[in-house]
Amino acid sequence: MLPSESIERVVELFASLPTIGKKTARRLAFHLLRQSEQDVEQFATALTEMRSRVRECGVCHTFTDADVCGICASPKRTQSVICVVEQPSDVMAIERTGDFRGRYHVLHGALSPLDGIGPEDLRLKELIARMTPEVEEVILALNPTVEGEVTTQYIAKLSSPLGVRITRIARGVPMGSDLEFADDATLARAFEGRTPL
Ligand code: ZN
Repeated sequence: MLPSESIERVVELFASLPTIGKKTARRLAFHLLRQSEQDVEQFATALTEMRSRVRECGVCHTFTDADVCGICASPKRTQSVICVVEQPSDVMAIERTGDFRGRYHVLHGALSPLDGIGPEDLRLKELIARMTPEVEEVILALNPTVEGEVTTQYIAKLSSPLGVRITRIARGVPMGSDLEFADDATLARAFEGRTPL
């Protein structure tokens, strides 16, 4: 037990974040205590503002401060190719490669019956609604996990009556890992080697 309840509380909160252990949580709390009150206030305000301002893009469902995100609003991005990903962080990972000029669709997860995540919990209806005749290709870039695989097959089946060309990225991304942690070169290669479904 730390000799301060307020420090203890912050440590608990930091430790509740992914990948943050108790030791790192303590280090972060003490780091903040050494900052000026103004700096810590700015930090806290940035967190609350992020939470209240950020919402889903009305088109692709990635996180954005506006009604429509910068990618969907850009005339430079082709509407004929949609890349489907699980999370907004995957959009950032693919954008880092700088190769993809189409648009995205963020599902906000993957099918996982064991965790009670079904089709209605994902932005699947919205994806199907976007598969209009102008769309030439839908690239499935889901995580190489069991859930990602199940979701890939589900989307392929769901969209087959629409006649849209569905492809998936190559298996360069290691099985069981997250797309967002793949290095840029691997991700770029996976895009180049995509295969039809
Ligand atoms: Zn968007």
